[in-house]
Amino acid sequence: MTIAARLLDVIEHDILPLTEKGVAAGNKVFGAAILRKSDLSLVIAETNNELENPLWHGEVHTLKRFYERTSGISTKDLIFLSTHEPCTMCMSAITWAGFDNFYSFFSHEDSRDAFAIPHDLKILKEVFGLEPGGYRRSNAFWNSYFIADLVESEHEPLRAELRAQTARVKAAYQRLSNSYQSGKAENNIPLA
Ligand SMILES: [Zn+2]
Repeated sequence: MTIAARLLDVIEHDILPLTEKGVAAGNKVFGAAILRKSDLSLVIAETNNELENPLWHGEVHTLKRFYERTSGISTKDLIFLSTHEPCTMCMSAITWAGFDNFYSFFSHEDSRDAFAIPHDLKILKEVFGLEPGGYRRSNAFWNSYFIADLVESEHEPLRAELRAQTARVKAAYQRLSNSYQSGKAENNIPLA
């Protein structure tokens, strides 16, 4: 199985079921997972839990649970998967945790335009003075990738299958996003 195929499967079958529950409780749609580089097996999947703590973005919540539940696994041997391009807090957390990579499904622009969550790009601009995409997607700490680019580099017939799966996953997220947006006036999340 290729990495693009495996990461899409983890989003669809491991992260999305957790996010369904999280959104039903009033949390945002963002999720993440950690996999082993060696065999692409899942170490942990998690979802946003900002109702408990506004810092529990999908990625940071996954890292918190990873350190609570596992020990002795070097992050150099692991892949970090984020359903949405990490915000500046989360990409710093991934950096401080020692990962040399992360993979994203949706982009910051998607979060703003399709999910009505403009905060990632707003923080990038207000705090760091950066335009969208203005940070270094490959640097001394890590290389980051978009799953869509990996899908496009696959050969047929796999590429067509992964495009169809991509469309299915996007539709599931759109439904969850509508659900979150319709209820968010009720929550106390600072950047809702
Ligand atoms: Zn974040």
